[in-house]
Amino acid sequence: MTDAAELLRRTRELLAAQPPATTGRLDFLRARFDAGLAWVHFPQGLGGLDAPRSLQAVVDAELEAAGAPDNDPRRIGIGLGMAAPTILQYGTEEQQQRFLRPLWTGEEVWCQLFSEPGAGSDLAALGTRAVREGDHWVVNGQKVWTSSAHVARWAILIARTDPDVPKHRGITYFVCDMTDPGVEVRPLRQITGEAEFNEVFLTDVRIPDSRRLGGIGDGWRVAQTTLNNERVAIGGMRLPREGGMIGPVSRTWRERPELRTHDLHQRLLRLWVEAEVARLTGERLRQQLVAGQPGPEGAGMKLAFARLNQEISGLEVELRGEEGLLYDDWTMRRPELVDFTGRDAGYRYLRSKGNSIEGGTSEVLLNIVAERVLGLPAEPRTDKDVAWKDLSR
Ligand SMILES: Cc1cc2nc3c(=O)[nH]c(=O)nc-3n(C[C@H](O)[C@H](O)[C@H](O)COP(=O)(O)OP(=O)(O)OC[C@H]3O[C@@H](n4cnc5c(N)ncnc54)[C@H](O)[C@@H]3O)c2cc1C
Repeated sequence: MTDAAELLRRTRELLAAQPPATTGRLDFLRARFDAGLAWVHFPQGLGGLDAPRSLQAVVDAELEAAGAPDNDPRRIGIGLGMAAPTILQYGTEEQQQRFLRPLWTGEEVWCQLFSEPGAGSDLAALGTRAVREGDHWVVNGQKVWTSSAHVARWAILIARTDPDVPKHRGITYFVCDMTDPGVEVRPLRQITGEAEFNEVFLTDVRIPDSRRLGGIGDGWRVAQTTLNNERVAIGGMRLPREGGMIGPVSRTWRERPELRTHDLHQRLLRLWVEAEVARLTGERLRQQLVAGQPGPEGAGMKLAFARLNQEISGLEVELRGEEGLLYDDWTMRRPELVDFTGRDAGYRYLRSKGNSIEGGTSEVLLNIVAERVLGLPAEPRTDKDVAWKDLSR
């Protein structure tokens, strides 16, 4: 097992061989991946050293102190947080070798083609069809709310390959080439004025069978790995104290004494404590991850993240009074990354509305916590044994 001292030694070796001051950003990131210092808990040869995940911090701190470039994790969050763990668990060796390095360095951005107009919370009802033709699959359908599709090179995609069996059983998981001529990406404008997500139309998209992840009909199981990791990726980001939305509102409080009231002070204190508890709970969750893939507990983290972001950004708007009501940034941007804490108070307030929808709505996550964490009785499900083609849609 690689320990902290060994990781430190290897990190210094990398810095000596590729001094950040004179090495190109991409060259440095590739060398870091090849040295096994990208995500240390990944296997050797795939950017890691089979080391405990918790030791990543040792490498990151040393590299940061030396001024080394990072891979801009916010820009490639779907690749890092969702595609990579799924490829690691279900991908063939060839797939892992092909996809993981450019995914980690950020050379190839990933998006997630899961939700459809008729399948969001009830994702297993999805209707995008994949039909086998020799060694290819031909895919037709429509996806929606696809973040980053406009900058993505690859997508993780789930599609229906067998309509004759119940909905959870006839789904297969693929890697889709977003440059295929059958892929059309159209912007969807959001409440913030910009379009960070898209509609994606798939028309006769040909996917080689070699880009299937997991078994035919096993896509629902594979997708659980993605979804469980997604909740941790959205809700469980590593943050310093006051690193999340609580940071800007606390700064405003300190810098603008004329805005303060007793009532707002009480609310700020409560939210500050809750944000700190959520941050530390996230740390604990990450420690649990050392032992394997995240389970349904990540749903609880994501629930807290959404509620806190909405309450805190609401408090910030209130604190700023009239000024907080102004929002004049309606530029139709196509951002490459989502910065939950960036820009102004109005943006934070509007953008955080999506937090309780993306990555599973809060209502659905409550169901998951109730059933799979607390063991409460399950919701009645009448469609479990009905063939997908016989379901009313
Ligand atoms: C900012 C943002 C980014 C996104 N990015 C992506 C992406 O990159 N890729 C992707 O595939 N998807 C993405 N999504 C889609 C997201 O996963 C879905 O919007 C979400 O799963 C909800 O699905 P829906 O919109 O179809 O709502 P519906 O499922 O139609 O839900 C409507 C309402 O009914 C409630 N509801 C539904 N079922 C139940 C139930 N069983 N019990 C109680 N209440 C219920 C919901 O909570 C909600 O309030 C994104 C969404 C947002 C907002």
